[in-house]
Amino acid sequence: MNRCYIGLGSNLQDPAAQLRSALEQMKAIPDTTLLDCSDLYSSAPIGPGQQPDYVNAVASLDTGLAPEDLLDSLQAIENRHGRERTLRWGARTLDLDILLFGTRQLDTARLQVPHPRMAERNFVLEPLAQLAPDLTMPDGTPLQALLAQCPPNRLHRL
Ligand code: ATP
Ligand code: MG
Ligand code: MG
Repeated sequence: MNRCYIGLGSNLQDPAAQLRSALEQMKAIPDTTLLDCSDLYSSAPIGPGQQPDYVNAVASLDTGLAPEDLLDSLQAIENRHGRERTLRWGARTLDLDILLFGTRQLDTARLQVPHPRMAERNFVLEPLAQLAPDLTMPDGTPLQALLAQCPPNRLHRL
């Protein structure tokens, strides 16, 4: 089993409800146990143009799946929530990103882990730290060190 952290985000069609529904569906991923979820946070959009604020959270799970199979399951949940992939970083009903997969470091066409942009996203690091304050990244960097140097974007706990 590998302990994984998943970043959840939504800024369309009742974002908080999208996240609650996604968590319910994550409980049904095969060979996987959903362990915990952070509080929900509201964050300023980082993508292009005018977009609604996001609701974000981080969930933890243990899985016996291979990383690509976990990604398949998460993308199936995104698709069931009407996720459309038009503009990069555009508004979306649901985004499920693998932040960490055990202590694995992956760089394939489909999957980069740890998530390559998590260090600059306080909407990822803050809820992750709520779940696992003493976490260490696969390269040995303490999560608290990433938090200390993360750019301060508008974020508050809901
Ligand atoms: P960002 O990755 O900056 O948060 P995004 O989440 O909006 O952007 P998506 O459109 O959800 O990007 O995903 C684009 C592709 O990213 C996916 O098809 C997937 O193959 C790839 N990807 C690479 N690494 C990861 C990861 N750690 N978690 C989820 N998807 C990943
Ligand atoms: Mg994302
Ligand atoms: Mg994504």
